[in-house]
Amino acid sequence: MDLFHHKQRVEKKRKENSVFFKRLKKEKPKVLDKLIHPIHEDVFANTDCLKCANCCKTTSPLFTDKDIQRISRYLKIRPSEFVDRYLRIDEDSDYVLQSVPCFFLSEDNYCSIYEVRPKACKEYPHTDRIKQYQLLKLTEKNINICPAVFEIAERLKLEL
Ligand code: SF4
Ligand code: SF4
Repeated sequence: MDLFHHKQRVEKKRKENSVFFKRLKKEKPKVLDKLIHPIHEDVFANTDCLKCANCCKTTSPLFTDKDIQRISRYLKIRPSEFVDRYLRIDEDSDYVLQSVPCFFLSEDNYCSIYEVRPKACKEYPHTDRIKQYQLLKLTEKNINICPAVFEIAERLKLEL
């Protein structure tokens, strides 16, 4: 899936997805986790993130204090230096990247700090977490970024 095609698909389904997620947010179906987790597994078993990296190219993860400690230790620099060099504080008072694509994304789409990457990167796009009904706003937003989430939403629509 090329990213230009992804954008076109997202636009085509924007209205339909907006109606679908509005309904889900209202109904908060109890079966959501049970339905979405196997779909997530299946979609990601057939997704090659190294051919995409759109999340790392277009959005910043949040960096927790623990992330900052761990990554700066790995880079052998002081946490304050790490913050000065790479991070800024956003409107929600969270640490995020100063700019995207991520500084740690290599040309071949590998993450140069993969072993110590932020928790938010490890968990992205969060469709295998519990209590999915609490994450519907985020999942709907991530359709714009992540071809796998787009696919997950399409499959979910067939079930709900
Ligand atoms: S945007 Fe989705 S499919 Fe693309 S690299 Fe990120 S998680 Fe993988
Ligand atoms: S830290 Fe690694 S996984 Fe996270 S956004 Fe940057 S390149 Fe991607």
